[in-house]
Amino acid sequence: MTLLLICIAAAVVVLGGGIALIVARGRRELPPPDVLEAITEEEIEHPEHPEPHLEDETDGGSTATTTIERPETAQGRLVRLRARLARSQGSLGKGLLAVLGRADLDDAAWEELEDTLLAADVGVGPTTDLVDALRTRVRVEGIDDPERAKAALREELVALVGTDLDRTLRATGTDGKPGVVLVVGVNGTGKTTTVGRLARVLVADGKSVVLGAADTFRAAAADQLQTWGERVGVDTLRGAEGGDPASVAYEAVQSGIASGTDVVLVDTAGRLHTKAGLMDELGKVKRVVEKQAPVTEVLLVIDATTGQNGLTQARVFGEVVDVTGIVLTKLDGTAKGGIVVAVQRELGVPVKFVGLGEGADDLAPFDAEEFVDALLG
Ligand code: GDP
Repeated sequence: MTLLLICIAAAVVVLGGGIALIVARGRRELPPPDVLEAITEEEIEHPEHPEPHLEDETDGGSTATTTIERPETAQGRLVRLRARLARSQGSLGKGLLAVLGRADLDDAAWEELEDTLLAADVGVGPTTDLVDALRTRVRVEGIDDPERAKAALREELVALVGTDLDRTLRATGTDGKPGVVLVVGVNGTGKTTTVGRLARVLVADGKSVVLGAADTFRAAAADQLQTWGERVGVDTLRGAEGGDPASVAYEAVQSGIASGTDVVLVDTAGRLHTKAGLMDELGKVKRVVEKQAPVTEVLLVIDATTGQNGLTQARVFGEVVDVTGIVLTKLDGTAKGGIVVAVQRELGVPVKFVGLGEGADDLAPFDAEEFVDALLG
């Protein structure tokens, strides 16, 4: 009898332990309360923040069997993306050419040209400059046929977008240290995607890369970045959820120096309520990183579909960090390519890359002539 009781007790203990284990495994660990608060604030601030998107089935960077991909080379992607740019911006070009094709370029025609440019987010100042310049040329050069008018428009547009700006990614470090690229911008603009895509561009170029997941507020951001890295065999440094972004950036650069890596790409958090908060955090990330190696590029990511809102973001970030280049994402989702001109004017720095789709290699280096030619067809 005693033996029977002991057996039953032992069975209860074993079974109970097993159940407890299953429950523990099934439960997701909750982050600390301050992190929960931060996540909630983010959800409120960006209620429609899209889920991280990747083309493959890998799960949050935890896969052990990711096949290393070979990213598309610059030449291959340019042909494909040029066609996509033409598709998205074609209606703007057609609108401009339709006005210039008229036999009589009267005041109403010039006004219409102005309206077309304004509707494409070119901005008031640049629009006035362009129309004035074109109008003068038409008068002075006696341009009276549509082909010459089109050629003059092309030249003026190229001049407006700018051919003398250095649009190369500054990713080369000095004194044997890696180049350090900080990627900043508001959440949802495509920041993490851009870091992942830049890693692919650099890897396709034969460069070694380390990623720093300094967006520690959004847990998914680090997973997303790690997955991007794994796809091309690049390591990602990440910290504790809700941890200090500056220390993650520091460690990423430290690791890049120790391993002799060519470029360290740092994704930063865009969840910031006030300019003071933004200033504190980005300023700290930059200062801390620069204890080890100079930051060679600060790229601001702007969603081209957000129009005026994007310009406001540019202004705020421009005041907070020394932005050296712009990445304009989602240009495939808008015909308002004029934002290229407006945002460059706002910040006084060049657009260096444009995003033209949701695919892994849908990031193209920006070129003024190519852009205008895609516009005018
Ligand atoms: P983050 O919060 O700024 O890091 O933004 P994510 O990198 O998570 O991107 C937000 C969403 O924008 C994702 O669904 C991306 O696939 C999408 N996205 C990024 N760049 C582009 C682009 O150039 N075109 C399109 N159509 N979608 C893009």
